[in-house]
Amino acid sequence: MAIKKTKNNTEDQNQEYFFSDLKQVQIISGISAFSGVLITILAMLFLPARVDRNLIIYTAIFVSLFIAVYYTFPRFYLNPRLMLLPDAVFIITITTVMYALKDMGEFYIVFFLLLITVDAFSFKFKDFMAVLVMIVSAILFSNIFLARQFFSVNALVFRSIIQLYSIIITALIMRFYAKEALTERKEKEKIRRLAQNTLTAIKQLRNLLDNIGNGVFALDKEGKIILTNTAAVNILNWKKAIAGRKIQEIMPLYNADDQLVDPVKKVLETKKKISRSDLIVKRDYESINVYVNVAPLFDIDGGIQGTIVLFRDITKEKELEEQKMEFVAISSHELRTPLTVIEGYLYYILNSNKLKYDKKTRNFIEKSHKSCLALQRLITDLLEVSKIERGRLKMIVDSFDLSELLDETVSELKGKALKNKVELFLEVKNKNLPHVMADRVRIKEVITNLIENAIKFTEKGQIRVGIKKDGKNLLVSVTDTGIGMSKEDQKYIFDKFYRAEGWRTRQRGGTGLGLYISKTVIERFRGKIWVDSKIGKGSTFNFTLPASKKIKKSKEESSPKELKKFVSKL
Ligand code: ADP
Repeated sequence: MAIKKTKNNTEDQNQEYFFSDLKQVQIISGISAFSGVLITILAMLFLPARVDRNLIIYTAIFVSLFIAVYYTFPRFYLNPRLMLLPDAVFIITITTVMYALKDMGEFYIVFFLLLITVDAFSFKFKDFMAVLVMIVSAILFSNIFLARQFFSVNALVFRSIIQLYSIIITALIMRFYAKEALTERKEKEKIRRLAQNTLTAIKQLRNLLDNIGNGVFALDKEGKIILTNTAAVNILNWKKAIAGRKIQEIMPLYNADDQLVDPVKKVLETKKKISRSDLIVKRDYESINVYVNVAPLFDIDGGIQGTIVLFRDITKEKELEEQKMEFVAISSHELRTPLTVIEGYLYYILNSNKLKYDKKTRNFIEKSHKSCLALQRLITDLLEVSKIERGRLKMIVDSFDLSELLDETVSELKGKALKNKVELFLEVKNKNLPHVMADRVRIKEVITNLIENAIKFTEKGQIRVGIKKDGKNLLVSVTDTGIGMSKEDQKYIFDKFYRAEGWRTRQRGGTGLGLYISKTVIERFRGKIWVDSKIGKGSTFNFTLPASKKIKKSKEESSPKELKKFVSKL
């Protein structure tokens, strides 16, 4: 009998209300209740004089007032705590009216029961049927009891019992169904509101998505587009339908070497996000530089569901960057020539025996020469960086003995270290180390930079340069007992222009470009570079380079074919 909503009860879930709006139901309820009062008043005019008219009139006025107030304010008729109020009022009304009607009371009950069925009808068909069955059974029972008079009590007692029974049943039914229907309706209303809010949120998101300047693609596991925004369509100038197509078809990405790359596939494999600003979207008629960010999209269980691709047209930015770097390159180049002349003359003045000057002047000239060298260093570094940024850092790849190169560099810098009162030495762990394939000059620059830094930042102690085999790589380390650096600094030390905080660093001068260039060079040869350091204790800079397959004794042994193969892999 009870109409309970369970998850499995699909029939119940699908059952529709006769009236979808709660307000409508309440209005119908109100009208039926009011018509009850109206009929009562009208009936009075035709009722025989034996009924208590005054009582009926007062009751009718009271109920009318109650109905008018109760059904006017939603805060009353929608308040679950006040749901019993009309029931109570109606029970009192019915009892009073029946009392006033005396022996005509049953007609009134039947009339009221009919009103309740109308009320129930406005809720649900099933409810309506249930109410109808209850009422019919109530009437049937009353007739049976009245006709048979099972017990030898007089008919008036039975009549009263039946009337009471009808009133209680009526009240219970009203109460039960009204509550059920109201909660169900409220739930439905909640769901409707939730759906509406979700729709609004989706609309807002869509708006947001369409109003951001970045192109956005959401892709499924196969790389097919499931969601896109206006910017994506505009940036790519795509005229046809996008949804369902593979991203490569719409946005084929190429690297600087004109090779197709697929960051989406990589993200799906590794589940890690990728950001790149060196890619180009190429199509028959145009090509644009893009910044692309591909992130994995996880489902609730943490499984990969697809990817989100965010991209931006950076063609103009790239052009500006190119112009800027070209300007740096040209101006640095132009600066270098006069600077070399100045440095040359200062060197000559400092080292000439023929020229005579006092101690103070010598000090000035020494300072000028030092600044000149620092400026030269800065210009060289800037030129290198501009070459890196423009992809013009040329490498001459050859097979060479890295330990020999270390030996050579350490020997050259020993004097400089001694001048700074630090000991510099080389430790070669393994014999017959394999060669490496790289640009000897560039690698020498890296080693020099690391050792010079170690000298620069070490006041006392030693600098140990080591080389050993580490799996398929050769591992070079430069360990000093210098000032060291914080964990925070270690994170950014290889970034362009980054210099560690503190007066000690500032005191020592520098550009903050050396390590950036070193990192670029090492990574170009598929190596890695990193630092381990502790403030006050010292630092160890490490880099690896892949060992070439054969142990090469001399340069002549590397065949040009092998070289070509290696270079093409870089
Ligand atoms: P530069 O030395 O010209 O400033 P680098 O890129 O070579 O530029 O180094 C960047 C910064 O890294 C330095 O300014 C310094 O703060 C820190 N650094 C590099 N090597 C060492 C070292 N061996 N010990 C402590 N700090 C170092």
